[in-house]
Amino acid sequence: MNSSQIALNFGFLPYREVFGERKKPHFSIRVDNLDFHIDSTPGTGFNLITHAHSDHYGQRNVENPRAIASDETAKILEVVSEKSFLGVRFKIGETIKVGDLKIKTFPTFHIYGASAFYFPKLDLLITGDVKSWKKLPKCKVLITEATYSHPSNVFEDEIELLLEKAEEGHCLGAYPIGKAQRVARILSNDGIEFCVDEKIAKICRALGIEVGSGGAKITSPSKLKKGYILTAQKYYKLPRIVISDHLDYRGLLEMIEHCKPEHVIFYHGKASKTLIEKLKERGITVSTLEDIDVFL
Ligand SMILES: [Zn+2]
Ligand SMILES: [Zn+2]
Repeated sequence: MNSSQIALNFGFLPYREVFGERKKPHFSIRVDNLDFHIDSTPGTGFNLITHAHSDHYGQRNVENPRAIASDETAKILEVVSEKSFLGVRFKIGETIKVGDLKIKTFPTFHIYGASAFYFPKLDLLITGDVKSWKKLPKCKVLITEATYSHPSNVFEDEIELLLEKAEEGHCLGAYPIGKAQRVARILSNDGIEFCVDEKIAKICRALGIEVGSGGAKITSPSKLKKGYILTAQKYYKLPRIVISDHLDYRGLLEMIEHCKPEHVIFYHGKASKTLIEKLKERGITVSTLEDIDVFL
């Protein structure tokens, strides 16, 4: 389904903002006369920031007064950018109002502060990246991610192995925004001593997560020389412990089953052919960024 078919069927226009010759990241939607840019660089309307990962462009929106982000997302963006967040903040679970339009917010458990946006008027849900779909509402149109959409991506978090290696005092490589804080919380809940590197410590402090000074060390994957890398990605040379912030292939299908959309738009990560075929078999129509053919 292309932009005009989506507009006709579902009451909002999906489009790509262009800057000179270049398309801006992800895409935008026009609802009535309001524009919302989804995890993109600042635009002429409002910027919805689902979470603080850099490939969702929050840092580029720190000083954008029309950026909309959760409290925790704003806090993380402030620490990493060393600037004050000037946009609109909300607590996840709150309903915000933009003009006459209501937007409800829901947790996706991807990282601290990760929030989905639901437009009741359109029955439209924008998830950003997702770890758990359990709190998400049903919707007619689902705008979501496809990071692990290839059927070869089937995994479970190896929490027991993580605890075992942490107890032995190993170095643990975790992405400093999000995963490191999740691991810090898992270890402290289990009473395991750990310390972290400076960048991770700053983000932990901003979110009120305590860190110690000994034991296992949580460090950025780029600084890890020996130890374990905490990821579901398969391209690292170091030994791996599977700890992912995303749904796997099965999880994506379960989320879609739970939300019961008529139409899905994959806007982040490449949707696999298998996943798209599976959804079509179930009578769900699918678009990807390539189908969005209005450029403004
Ligand atoms: Zn992310
Ligand atoms: Zn992402």
